[in-house]
Amino acid sequence: MISTPRGGEPSPVRVLLIEDSKGDARLLREDLEISTTPFEVTHVLRLDEGLARLEQSPFDLLLLDLHLPDSQGFATFEAAVQRAPGIPIVVLSGLSDERTGAQAVQNGAQDYLVKGQIPPGLLERTLRYAMERSRSSAALRSSEERYRQFFEEDLAGAFIATPDGAMLACNPAFARMFGFDTVEAATARSVGSYFPNVDEAVAMREAIRVGKKLVDHALPLRRADGTPIHTIGNLIGGFSPGGDLQEIKGYLFDDSERRQLEEELRQSQKMESIGRLAGGVAHDFNNLLTVILGYADTVLEQCEPSDPRRADVEEIRVAGLRAAALTQQLLAFSRRQVLQVRVIDLTDVILHLKRMLTRVLGETVDLVTTLSPNGHVKADATQIEQVLINLALNARDAMPEGGTLTIATRPLRILPDAARKPSGPPPGEYIELSVTDTGHGIEPDVLPKLFEPFFTTKKSGRGTGLGLATVYGIVKQSNGEISVETQIGKGTTFRVHLPLSRESVPEGAREDSTGTDSGGAETILLVEDESAVRFIASRLLRSKGYSVIEAVNGPDALDQSGRHSGVIDLLITDLVMPRMSGREFSEQFLRLRPGTPVLFISGYTDDDVVRDLIARGGAAFLQKPFEPEALARTARRLLDGPRAPSPLVGASSSGD
Ligand code: ADP
Ligand code: MG
Repeated sequence: MISTPRGGEPSPVRVLLIEDSKGDARLLREDLEISTTPFEVTHVLRLDEGLARLEQSPFDLLLLDLHLPDSQGFATFEAAVQRAPGIPIVVLSGLSDERTGAQAVQNGAQDYLVKGQIPPGLLERTLRYAMERSRSSAALRSSEERYRQFFEEDLAGAFIATPDGAMLACNPAFARMFGFDTVEAATARSVGSYFPNVDEAVAMREAIRVGKKLVDHALPLRRADGTPIHTIGNLIGGFSPGGDLQEIKGYLFDDSERRQLEEELRQSQKMESIGRLAGGVAHDFNNLLTVILGYADTVLEQCEPSDPRRADVEEIRVAGLRAAALTQQLLAFSRRQVLQVRVIDLTDVILHLKRMLTRVLGETVDLVTTLSPNGHVKADATQIEQVLINLALNARDAMPEGGTLTIATRPLRILPDAARKPSGPPPGEYIELSVTDTGHGIEPDVLPKLFEPFFTTKKSGRGTGLGLATVYGIVKQSNGEISVETQIGKGTTFRVHLPLSRESVPEGAREDSTGTDSGGAETILLVEDESAVRFIASRLLRSKGYSVIEAVNGPDALDQSGRHSGVIDLLITDLVMPRMSGREFSEQFLRLRPGTPVLFISGYTDDDVVRDLIARGGAAFLQKPFEPEALARTARRLLDGPRAPSPLVGASSSGD
């Protein structure tokens, strides 16, 4: 018990004796000198002297007379305790005030001795026991303190509850996790109130009663404000010797964020696969629609103005165009559109569109715009208009009684911040485009499906469910993010974040592609694997006066081009073809015939190099299904345009 320096004699117990009677002090010292425990006694006569000594050097024990010249009775003890907390004190009292000694013991003195009544050996024993008791209670206190701190500082939410659902204790992490301001507020609630319904609390208790514990158990619970929180918990039952469940201890971890990320990932994978499906369907439909529209036009051309069949064919054409618009939206969603990406000023785009939006919104909806002066982003202006129109149409539908639509732009800097949602946009400078309505809001169960194609809550005939799918595709393809906030009965805000561009808007950015003259006598190489499309296109081009060399795929085209001794003035080629892609083929072709202008025709392109090339004006692109006249016009424009020196050959190796 008494500390022993390694290998040597036990070190003496340092006793401070405060005793004004020199005689009593001598007796006590003599008693201690003959004891087996080595004591080292420091003796002073007054309390103030004693207190000063306590400050100067460490003591293991205080032997304190309560009646001193400068302090009397219980107050002496109180003063000593205050100055020397943690040092065991044995008080000395006279026969007449034994009660004061007892009072001191009640208040923390280890023991008391009555002077003049101390048989041999008692003093030593008393002092030794006093020290032992003091040591073990200090050890207990510090171990309790350790556990309390552990509980308090634990990052897991810890709690103890009774089987009938009363909370006995919880730690600050638990209170924080569930959104309570204080631990007391959290313990005041019953265990059942943390569960979405009480049956689940009962089921948990029974599972613990039977299985003794639950390990890594998923517990969907509720926060103070009722919002859901996903926790993972280890729960342990405390049982009486008879086997009755007496208490439940739990350690809970907040798993909400991981769950949400998982959910977002699942959601984006789903969008991705729907996108692929939609893109594939659209691609095949575009070929079919090119044929349908091409033949409809041919028939129309052959019909006399008075022919009664004209109206029927018109119907076919109109339906074909509607279908083409639909596949266009699917393509937008699947992010496989060929975008005409330029630096544009969002503010300009919105101002341009304002008149039209006002018309779309009708008289009952007010349009308010708050636009930031600098809104330069890299995007396709027409597509951004599409985004705005779709969002505005939805907003209008959400405000049948009228309301306000606010379109706002503002610069936004997203800082590299650990607290940032990992699924959000990466740090950087953005322009935020927000579209806010004061409509009926969106039900929570609808939110996860909002951007899916063909998801609509509108009556059949009213909605196609393609509006937001298109918006989503366009925003993603423009390297942006879209999010939505909504409140039932209050309204909805869609926020689009597009990366800010530091470049300025090029002059004459919006070109007009409508020309009138579309005929000519040049030679065109037409490569298209779909025979009906090839047939329509070549017939049209021939009807305009061109000579057309038709090829069914890349190798065939290279072969024919090799055998053709004259000039080839224009290459028109499909992009998605078996055996050799349109890009591969055109690269080879241009090596042989550099400078030939190229027109790609396709439903979409997966090829980033081609996309980039088209975006930079190195080649032209015509979206399928095209109307024959558009093909002839674009061909003419390319034939008349400046010859770019072999754009494709350099494109794949150049980095800019
Ligand atoms: P559609 O408008 O054809 O139904 P969308 O893809 O544009 O298809 O929208 C899908 C659904 O999202 C709508 O049916 C509607 O339930 C909901 N929605 C979209 N925008 C809003 C809005 N601003 N307010 C309320 N609900 C909206
Ligand atoms: Mg819509």
